[in-house]
Amino acid sequence: MPLFPLISAFSRVTALAAQKPVHAAFAWLHGNPMKIMDWQARLAAIPGPPFGEKARSEWLSARFTDAGLSQVQTDAVGNVFGWLPAAKLPPQSTGPVVVLSAHVDTVFPAETPLNPVVDGDRLQAPGACDNGAGVVGMLAIAHALVQAKVQAKAELPAPLIFLGNVGEEGEGDLRGVRHLYSQAALAGRIVAHIVLDGSGADTAVTQALGSRRYQVSVTGPGGHSFTDAGTPNPIAALASALAILAQTPLPEAPRTTLNLGTIHGGTSVNSIPESARASIDFRSTSSEQLLLLEVALYRAVEDAVEHGNASAKIRSRGLLSFTITKIGDRPAAQLPADSPLLESLRAVDRHLGLKTDLRLGSTDANIPLSLGIPALSMGAGGEGGGAHTQAEWYSAKDREVGLRRVLLLTLAMIEWAAEQ
Ligand SMILES: [Zn+2]
Repeated sequence: MPLFPLISAFSRVTALAAQKPVHAAFAWLHGNPMKIMDWQARLAAIPGPPFGEKARSEWLSARFTDAGLSQVQTDAVGNVFGWLPAAKLPPQSTGPVVVLSAHVDTVFPAETPLNPVVDGDRLQAPGACDNGAGVVGMLAIAHALVQAKVQAKAELPAPLIFLGNVGEEGEGDLRGVRHLYSQAALAGRIVAHIVLDGSGADTAVTQALGSRRYQVSVTGPGGHSFTDAGTPNPIAALASALAILAQTPLPEAPRTTLNLGTIHGGTSVNSIPESARASIDFRSTSSEQLLLLEVALYRAVEDAVEHGNASAKIRSRGLLSFTITKIGDRPAAQLPADSPLLESLRAVDRHLGLKTDLRLGSTDANIPLSLGIPALSMGAGGEGGGAHTQAEWYSAKDREVGLRRVLLLTLAMIEWAAEQ
C-alpha cells in the first residue's frame, strides 16, 4: 500500500474542491434543499419494516433511474444498485470500485402509522432521520454528481456504486450488506465503503461493535405439579443456566457486555412446564470475547440441563433437552487509525472547517470492516432525534455542509481507489 500521509490527503481534497464540476455539484446541493426534503417525506410515507422493504426498494430504484445512474438493478434480497461509471474505463472493466450506501429499512412494523409532516426544513415521521436522511443524502449526491457531469469533466477514475440496502436494523442482522459481500465478483472489487446512516456532520462510526444473539430453548416432558412432581423442570434448568451465565466476568477493555433479554415458558402455575426459552445478546469490540461468551453460554446450558436430569427424582417420564440457536451475528472490527479513508475524512474536515469524533457502533460498515475493507458509517448532515420512536424528527438545517463532506470524501476515495 502506498504511503498516504495527511498532507497528501489534504492536497488531494483541496485539488478536488477546486475543480469546476465539484463546484457545480456543490451548487446543485445548495440549490435543491426542497427537492431533497420532498424525497425524504415521500420515502417516510412508505413502510420499511425489516424483511418488508420491497416498496422502498422499488421507490429507490425509480429514483436512481431518474438521477441518471447506470445499470440500476435490484438483487435477490432487495438491495438496489446504481452505478456512476468511471470516466475513461470501459463498463466491463473489473478494477476497484467505491461503494456509497444507505439502508432503506426501518425498525417500525408494517402497520405503524407513518403520516410524515413537513414543517419548513423539519420532517416529523418514524424513520425520518434513520434512515430517511441517509437515503436521500445518497440520492442528493447521485444527482449532484450526475448533474455536474463530474464523470465526464472531472477525474472520476474509478466507478462509484450507489447502494440502497435492506436489512440493517435489528433482526435484519445486516443481511443486505452481508449479501453484497457474499457476491465474490463484485465484493472483490470494493476498496472502500462509505455508509450514510442518520444525520450529523461531526461523527463517524469507525469501530464496529460486534454482537452475537442467541435463543436458548429447554424442553422436557412436563406434567402435573403434584402427581408428576420430581419430573425435570425446563424453567428450573434454564433459570440456573442464566444465573450462571450472568456471573461471567466481562472485561472493561475490550468493552464486552452481556444481556439476558427475554424469558418465556410454562403454561400455568400448577403445571410442570414443557418448555422454556430465553434470548441473549453479547456485544464486544473483540471477536475473541464474543467467541469466549458463546463457549460460556454452551457450558452453562449444558451443565444446567445435565444437572436437572441427574437430580430429577422421576426420570422415566422423559428428560430435558436443549437447543441453542444463533439469531444474530455481527462481526467486530475497526478502521485502522492510518487508513486512507480516515485520513481523507480528516482532510475533508479540515477543508470544510469541521471536526469528526470517532464512535463505536453496530452499522452496515461492520461487514466490510470485518473483511479488512476501509469502511465507516457517517451522518448525511442536518440534525435528528427520537430515533427508533414514533416521535422521530429530522431538521435539514446544515444538511448542505454534511453532504459536501460526504461528496468530497467519496471523490477523494475514488481517486485513491484508482491508484490501488
Ligand atoms: Zn440506521
